[in-house]
Amino acid sequence: MISDFHTHNPNADNAIINAEPHNFAPLPGKFYSVGIHPWSNQCTLADVKRLVALSSHPQVVAIGEAGIDLAKSALPLDEQRRLLIFHALLAERRKLPLIIHCVRASHIIAELLKELKPSVPWIIHGFRYNAAVAASLLRFPCVKLSFGEHFNPEALRATPAHRRLAETDCSLLSIAEILTLHACALTPPHP
Ligand SMILES: [Zn+2]
Repeated sequence: MISDFHTHNPNADNAIINAEPHNFAPLPGKFYSVGIHPWSNQCTLADVKRLVALSSHPQVVAIGEAGIDLAKSALPLDEQRRLLIFHALLAERRKLPLIIHCVRASHIIAELLKELKPSVPWIIHGFRYNAAVAASLLRFPCVKLSFGEHFNPEALRATPAHRRLAETDCSLLSIAEILTLHACALTPPHP
């Protein structure tokens, strides 16, 4: 049973461990997402072909992380967009969720949701936006929001439980500790 929906810790249990096509090295009993991060400089034709091949590996349970980063990326926006669409179509074909990295780009993700009408879950990982942005994305039924160590408490509270996930990402905290932070933020303050 997966409790940590996005981590870069290769030894994590009950987790979706992030890998890129060039460094995918599955360990027994673990689950993975595979994708090309918008910060990556490993985005050759060979990497893209390997991504397609790995997307049907039995331990790959999600595509990504992939996405748009308007604060920090090696790639121009139109290339990031093209690469994300590629991941989205692959996720659709494989019937796997798509794990999305989205920095200053929630409006672009909303446009793509309108355009592509995905049927698989789109998990916006490391969600740190406010409740208004959460609401604007939750209008799309396929969207789930994954919260980590740093998050906006109002956005967390505005996200229904069945559409809210948790993750460690690069945190030093365990998933149990992060779930405790979330539980504290969800508990109404005592009068
Ligand atoms: Zn990550």
